[in-house]
Amino acid sequence: MRAIRVHEVGGPEQMRVDQIDVPTPGSKQALVKIDTSGVNFIDIYFRTGLYKADAPFTLGMEAAGVVEAVGPDVTEVAVGDRVAYAMSRGSYAEYAVVPSATLVKVPEGVTLETAASVMLQGMTAHYLSHSTFPLEKQHTALIHAAAGGTGALLVQMAKMRGARVIATAGNSEKAARAKAVGADEVIVYSEQDFEAETRRLTNGVGVDVVYDSVGAATWEKSLGSLKPRGMMVSFGNASGAVPAIQPLILSTKGSLYLTRPTLASYCANREELLWRAGDVLRWLASGSLQTKVHQVYPFEQAAPAHIDLAGRVSAGKLLLKP
Ligand code: NDP
Repeated sequence: MRAIRVHEVGGPEQMRVDQIDVPTPGSKQALVKIDTSGVNFIDIYFRTGLYKADAPFTLGMEAAGVVEAVGPDVTEVAVGDRVAYAMSRGSYAEYAVVPSATLVKVPEGVTLETAASVMLQGMTAHYLSHSTFPLEKQHTALIHAAAGGTGALLVQMAKMRGARVIATAGNSEKAARAKAVGADEVIVYSEQDFEAETRRLTNGVGVDVVYDSVGAATWEKSLGSLKPRGMMVSFGNASGAVPAIQPLILSTKGSLYLTRPTLASYCANREELLWRAGDVLRWLASGSLQTKVHQVYPFEQAAPAHIDLAGRVSAGKLLLKP
């Protein structure tokens, strides 16, 4: 089978289409024939070496496909099931062996392509809005990169929960997308000082929570946008990792809370996975949640896909077809 592997960490050119054996599922594992793989920022972190893996390794943390075979002791899925998953590495391939407990069945009315586009980012938006800082009507949230894959889903879920959403986006087209998915106000943060704008929009009070996936470039002003005892949710590094900090900064800005969450700890067991994935896929099927595909790339175009995602070109989900 073909698989996109990294032999040495580095630039997009390090992704090679290799011919390797189809893996065999072991105990509590299923073999999934991949229909569509999601492209995520985490793939870039692995490819560049920010996140560590032993080389050579197959990239990709999200896919949808059909169960081709199961190993012993698999109870969750059967051969022929349409399934989707996130956070098991190796999805940039024609087949992947996946722990069966991480697979969810894709409901009727949701295509495999759509399922592949929401598993990772949708469940992330779900845990951020429902668990890390459970939004309610009285809250105002600042959501960065709101036209992005995760950002646009998070805006929609924040609105479902009744919160006021102040969003940021890199240009006016992206700002229009953030508005279209429900943001109450959008700041084009490449042109405007988002901290000053957020303060103005909240009458000087600040927001209850900042969901910050941009990292290094927004860190300081994100803290400055919070009200006293607000929560800084630093969940990504699109512009680079946040440098080391002094906890004292949290006291000088008003007894702030800081968390650096990951999807893995918020899908800690099968019950939590079925809750989050179930909500996301059901909302998609009913039309109450929307996802936008930026582009579907063939395997040979994995490098341009990474360049588009890292270069702020995309607005929406990038997908890869084996
Ligand atoms: P996006 O589709 O959001 O793309 C990233 C966006 O970040 C860009 O489009 C751009 O939007 C914005 N951005 C701002 N500054 C930069 C920069 N210097 N370089 C590149 N992009 C920049 O990607 P994803 O939805 O896949 O991921 C978004 C973030 O969320 C990533 O940091 C990712 O690691 C994180 N994440 C974290 C998870 C977790 O559990 N902790 C799970 C899933 C994602 P604009 O032009 O509008 O500024």
